Amino acid sequence: MKIYNTLTKRKDDFKPIEEGKVRMYVCGPTVYNLIHIGNARPMIVFDTVRRYFEYKGYKVNYVSNFTDVDDKIIKAANEEGVDAKVISERYIEECKKDMKAMNVKPATTHPKATEEIDGMIAMIQTLIDKGYAYVAKDGTVYYKTRSFKEYGKLSHKNLDDLQGGMRSLLVSGEDQKDDPLDFVLWKPKKEGEPYWVSPWCDGRPGWHIECSVMSKKYLGEEIDIHAGGEDLVFPHHENEIAQSEAANGKQFSKYWMHNAFLNIDNKKMSKSLGNFFTVRDIIEKYDPMVLRFFMLQAHYRSQLNFSADLMEAAKNSLERIITCHKKNLDLLASKDSAASMTDAETATFAKVDEYVKKFEDAMEDDFNTADAISAVFELVKFINSNVSTDSSYAFVKALDDKLLTLTDVLGLDIEVKEEALDADIEALIQERTDAKKAKDFAKADAIRAKLLDMGIVLEDTREGVKWKRV
Ligand code: AMP
Ligand code: ZN
Repeated sequence: MKIYNTLTKRKDDFKPIEEGKVRMYVCGPTVYNLIHIGNARPMIVFDTVRRYFEYKGYKVNYVSNFTDVDDKIIKAANEEGVDAKVISERYIEECKKDMKAMNVKPATTHPKATEEIDGMIAMIQTLIDKGYAYVAKDGTVYYKTRSFKEYGKLSHKNLDDLQGGMRSLLVSGEDQKDDPLDFVLWKPKKEGEPYWVSPWCDGRPGWHIECSVMSKKYLGEEIDIHAGGEDLVFPHHENEIAQSEAANGKQFSKYWMHNAFLNIDNKKMSKSLGNFFTVRDIIEKYDPMVLRFFMLQAHYRSQLNFSADLMEAAKNSLERIITCHKKNLDLLASKDSAASMTDAETATFAKVDEYVKKFEDAMEDDFNTADAISAVFELVKFINSNVSTDSSYAFVKALDDKLLTLTDVLGLDIEVKEEALDADIEALIQERTDAKKAKDFAKADAIRAKLLDMGIVLEDTREGVKWKRV
């Protein structure tokens, strides 16, 4: 299996540190808002990577964090007049709902930064003791970037070029740094912000230290794969390497994978330009599997453009796969399940291996899901032209199982969902309204989540609750 490694700038053969196991860490979202479809790209891409490893028999330990302390969270909390934790917990729950809708498996562990502060303080202390970090007058702890000789090896940047680009930092109040390249490990508290006690000052961690600490705690000092969006290569991942390798004296991660960005109408998607969609916006209009299919149609290292036309195309393509599966199910329902394959069918079925091989070859070439999907379409075509009302149960079932196996590796759930009856939905909505009146918000939220699982999205309006199917 080949994986494009940002560290080596080539496709490297994958060799796990431990036979049959994969230890992988994916940088997760900062939780101050509903996640947008850009955030969904790494979630879907790396969930698919995990699923492929599992399909090949690896046991995957998959860790993905939630950054739950950050300026944006604190700002949102101050605007609402609530504790930062209220904001982060709310959006962690919402994020998990979106992940579930997109069929992204829960990580083996989803650590939260605020629950790992002790580990961060310990690693920062190790860095100070080893001479990689220093404490400034006000208690800020900085990483001494130039002390880590390999700094720049991931982003392939040269320290002296960086020095030029960073000069501006010297005039932005960070004049207590020894060197403009140094970055923050721990910073003093500000009025109205959450803080923790540390040997240096009451304060909170810089952003980068959390991933070094959580990765070590849940996966060990050396891991197989570290992943995230391409914007994280520098400085986030570069700084993680500097911290972890200096503290542990070992290579942090063997393979570094980065997805390219998702753009909208060929422009960079950003909150400030206002041209972003939340996952929730999209799954109100489309089945979440259409969004997943759309993401996987492109190679993860290619920029991907989001537009209504492309989503319609994705919807139609996915429909072809679902129709094939539905047809198989209808045929199976009308057949005697004891009927085995004829010799001719056995011979025909053997040809399926060719499509499975194409699928695997594509996935083993740096997870080329675009080509893997083409192989699925070839299988669909093969099924459509070889299955008929005369086919045996065993033949149709075996072909359909292959289709389900491959779509499952891609995390595309093509099972035909039974539509909930309007009356059942309205009864649940009434139950939720009653729970809210009784101030039982936990129950009300649980009912909302249950409805979302059933594909129903609620909107609280002045005229009452409105609902629609996604
Ligand atoms: P953040 O919450 O900004 O830390 O982002 C969480 C993850 O989403 C990181 O891996 C980012 O690189 C990734 N990400 C953010 N925006 C986009 C985008 N437009 N396209 C692809 N990935 C993105
Ligand atoms: Zn990270």
